[in-house]
Amino acid sequence: MIFFDVDTQRDFIDADGALAVPGAEAIKPNLARLLRAAGQYGITTVSSRCAHEDGDPEFEIFPPHCLEGTPGAERVFAALPELPKQELAVTAAADAQAQLAAARHYLVKKKVFDLFSNAWLDDLRQRGVFNGRDCVVFGVATDYCVRCCALGLAAAGARVRLVSDAIRGVAPDTTTQALAEFRAAGIEFTTTDAVLENLQGARQSA
Ligand SMILES: [Zn+2]
Repeated sequence: MIFFDVDTQRDFIDADGALAVPGAEAIKPNLARLLRAAGQYGITTVSSRCAHEDGDPEFEIFPPHCLEGTPGAERVFAALPELPKQELAVTAAADAQAQLAAARHYLVKKKVFDLFSNAWLDDLRQRGVFNGRDCVVFGVATDYCVRCCALGLAAAGARVRLVSDAIRGVAPDTTTQALAEFRAAGIEFTTTDAVLENLQGARQSA
């Protein structure tokens, strides 16, 4: 199982963030539970993170947010202390043997909605690393970056489960549209409780 923790950064999640996603404060406890479980059960986790500079094209659509080096760009739950961390720059190249290691925390930087714009992650995807993998996706925003992540993984052959009580969208109409696209792509919906129960059950039967 791989967790995809999409853009859980202060500017999106905190109510006073530069591009606060409505209702995102309310999913904080579930985000915390999922990330704590990742550490506890050694779940490989990919955290995507907007790392912007002044004048980035995204700022023609949205107000400036997650400027690299500012508090708003920080992740709300900064560290998974139990998991070794690896940070991948936007243009980080993957060598031909690069794989997702077990029980690792990958921090993937990006400048546009799609986390597969990160060269390293895209290399892994093109090599089929996500094909047939069980991927659990949560974070913000349902109608933008979570959408790119979930649909991108589904297209890469992953079994994708979206944690419905740990995602939030920017606007109701685009969120409704994204949910319809998820269903059409065969993406399943789950809850934080179900994911955690599943992990506990797997450990007990191991
Ligand atoms: Zn951004």
